[in-house]
Amino acid sequence: RSEATASASLLTNPAKLIDSVETFLFDCDGVIWRGDVLIDGVPETVEMLRSKGKRLIFVTNNSTKSRKQYGKKFEMLGLDVTEEEIFSSSFAAAAYLMSINFPSHKKVYVVGESGIQLELKQAGINYLGGPEDGDKRIDLSPGQLMQHDPDVAAVVVGFDRYINYYKLQYATLCIRENPGCMFIATNCDSVAHFTECQEWAGGGCMVGAIKGSTQREPLVVGKPSTFMMDHVTSKFNIKTSQICMVGDRLDTDILFGQNEGCATLLVLSGVTTLETLQSADNKIQPHYYTPTISELLAAKDL
Ligand code: PLP
Ligand code: CA
Repeated sequence: RSEATASASLLTNPAKLIDSVETFLFDCDGVIWRGDVLIDGVPETVEMLRSKGKRLIFVTNNSTKSRKQYGKKFEMLGLDVTEEEIFSSSFAAAAYLMSINFPSHKKVYVVGESGIQLELKQAGINYLGGPEDGDKRIDLSPGQLMQHDPDVAAVVVGFDRYINYYKLQYATLCIRENPGCMFIATNCDSVAHFTECQEWAGGGCMVGAIKGSTQREPLVVGKPSTFMMDHVTSKFNIKTSQICMVGDRLDTDILFGQNEGCATLLVLSGVTTLETLQSADNKIQPHYYTPTISELLAAKDL
């Protein structure tokens, strides 16, 4: 393998890469699907890698769905993927809180969508906020203070299409008035692709708003933070040197793999163009790049 700091090479020998690792970590949007549309050649590639005995894990920063909901999405797209093989940033938030034994009498305030709530529920963690606060407005009489639940010990922020000033103020009060309250971000992606044909303001803008009002840095649990990688490697008992991280974003996916010494493969089927990869401004170089994951199919009969 070439050093990660050297320029990325076009993947010309997929069989060698496949043989050199036991696990493939696939980013989802831009690699497996674009929005709700499956990328060409994905089912065949997944099947080929499974037939070669590779472990496949799917890692997404999109916090709007829970693992169960992603399971349904994979099924709808005709891919046979189990819930245990899916790591979403919504799950990462719940897994992090479980890992620190978040007290059962404390609560989480959610700025995000149902994916985060469902994961917290499954983890047995109390929460408030989320879509339920989407219609709330601040309507106080003169001199009246906005109240917040003093039992909120963590604010989890993810992508939220129903964000409003009520939620921003509620989250801000929880964090500013309780110095022990954690500020957890599922991800800080600048853009989102919840439709295939356009880029939308991503989870980073919701996280940025609360960073601005609290002057606190969040703990990020999604890519490129090491939390998800540590969770995956300990759950499956695998070494990072045995993993190839495949993704379409340099500052989340490729950095995520690089931070932990994984092999890294950039696909050009998502947000990164060859021009961006090769521009003098780009400091994040994967080991390899390839147009789509179906280029791995060249190794099928080898
Ligand atoms: N967050 C949101 C809301 C998105 O819509 C997307 C992509 O569609 C992402 C994050 C990035 O997801 P992934 O990590 O699968 O590329
Ligand atoms: Ca992606």
